[in-house]
Amino acid sequence: MNTDVLAEIREKVDIVELISGYLPLKRSGDNYRALCPFHNEKKPSFNVNRSKQIFYCFGCKKGGDIFSFLMLHEGLSFAEAVRYLADRAGVTLPARHSGQERQRALREKIADLNRLAAAHWRSGLAKCDRARRYLQGRQVAQPLWERFALGYAADAWTSLYEAAKSAGFDDETLLQGGLVKARETGGYYDLFRDRIMFPITDGTGKVRGFGGRAIGETDIKYINSPETALYHKGGLLYGVYQAKEALRRTGVAYVVEGYFDLIAVVAAGIDNVVASLGTALTEEQARLLRRHVSRVALIYDTDEAGISAALRGVEVLLSCDLVPKVIRLPADKDPDDFVRAKGAEKFRAMVAEEVDFLDFLLAVYETDKADVEGRTAVARRGLELIGNVKDELKRSEYLKLFAEKLDMSERAMRAEFAKAVRKRKQEPEQPQRRLSEVEADVVKLLIDRPDLLEQARRTVRLDDVASTSFRQFLELVFLVPNGEEDAGEYLMRRATDPETRATLAGLLMRETSVESADKAIAEWMRSVSRSARQRKAEQLQREIQLAERQGDTTAVTNLLKQKAELVG
Ligand SMILES: [Zn+2]
Repeated sequence: MNTDVLAEIREKVDIVELISGYLPLKRSGDNYRALCPFHNEKKPSFNVNRSKQIFYCFGCKKGGDIFSFLMLHEGLSFAEAVRYLADRAGVTLPARHSGQERQRALREKIADLNRLAAAHWRSGLAKCDRARRYLQGRQVAQPLWERFALGYAADAWTSLYEAAKSAGFDDETLLQGGLVKARETGGYYDLFRDRIMFPITDGTGKVRGFGGRAIGETDIKYINSPETALYHKGGLLYGVYQAKEALRRTGVAYVVEGYFDLIAVVAAGIDNVVASLGTALTEEQARLLRRHVSRVALIYDTDEAGISAALRGVEVLLSCDLVPKVIRLPADKDPDDFVRAKGAEKFRAMVAEEVDFLDFLLAVYETDKADVEGRTAVARRGLELIGNVKDELKRSEYLKLFAEKLDMSERAMRAEFAKAVRKRKQEPEQPQRRLSEVEADVVKLLIDRPDLLEQARRTVRLDDVASTSFRQFLELVFLVPNGEEDAGEYLMRRATDPETRATLAGLLMRETSVESADKAIAEWMRSVSRSARQRKAEQLQREIQLAERQGDTTAVTNLLKQKAELVG
């Protein structure tokens, strides 16, 4: 993305105005404040600064610029946020290269087609008594089918095809959009026929694809859109658009498997629910949820497939740093059956009895727990699950808890865990982006004071900075050209990674605690060169030892002289 265009958009869109469209901001000194939309809180720690054009929450440490806000709040990708804001600001985006342009045009055409299809099927439902009776039979009342924009695809071969053609869509778009199939004998026919239609939207409400439930006699109860330029099953959650507010308000997401399960849960009065559009939750879906919630409770069937999907889901949630819970349905019931048979109140009571994943695991293996073989098998499976937790402290707590629950020795469990970890191929660690207080002060000073930045650039060798996150930040700050007026703004433009942006926003909001900036910087530079000298001395010492062993006296004398100079 062209940085000039980003700067132009940033100039034209006022961050206070933008965020005011989503949250009630109140002025407080230089900043505007609100209750943070990204975590639950009673006192506002979400700050927006107009002159710096950034936002930052001191509670959950989320932050960034206008683009970051839309990405976090609306679940947009960076490119989507740019396009949306460019539109709002009246900035023309430069044309991309033709392949990308074609793909974008196709996605747009499919989106238009999906909109038409959804409307076509909605009016199909209004016209068809049989389909409405079917929904009534499944206790889906009118407000619910309206909320989820349900439709009905007629029992006909070319109903949608003809509607789309007369609206001006070509065969190619219909094929690429996955809504029709080509006949071997020429011509096309509708993929969805005699089915209740569920539009699958993304977080912004755009229809990406469809699911269809047959209402007549057929072997295939459900079919979904095939993968298209717009529809990628593992990356979407059914119902997330309707659930967004409730997810954010509660901080919890309930995840069910199917469309009717989701609608049954909503009918029972629980709005913060999404469906995973398949059996097991994918990492992409978990990351989508993480934008809105910190806790996820899985409500899957109790058959074998449901249990293994739940355990797989737990793994994914743990690895995405979400707190997994599992709700145990009675045998042979899915949420839809349960609500219909027992009513909303009983369902809500059951949901309230969520268990953590270790209890779930123990319950699943209840019968195996009796003998040694069974118990060690449960232990292994539990350790596998805990192995997905990235945070070391949390992992340790889980191990302790698990040993207690299983009534096994904690030491044996930790030893077994260490063994399992060694066996597993280690992924390279993500670079940490956290800075210490002193490091943060230094970076902040360098951003605020161009003269100090120039001095630091001359004096400090980045190789001598031991902390990785600090070095990465200095590298970034050192990119600010001499004479740049607003280093903060410049850096926000350069930083692409969301975590770096958030940390940066935190720095820009920071009231530096250091009394005298010059003194602090000078002290820091001295300590940097001190540790650099020390490292050089250690290096020379190793070389001296080597030369001594080889009996190279000339080299030894030489190196000793260098070392003396260094220390002196
Ligand atoms: Zn927050």
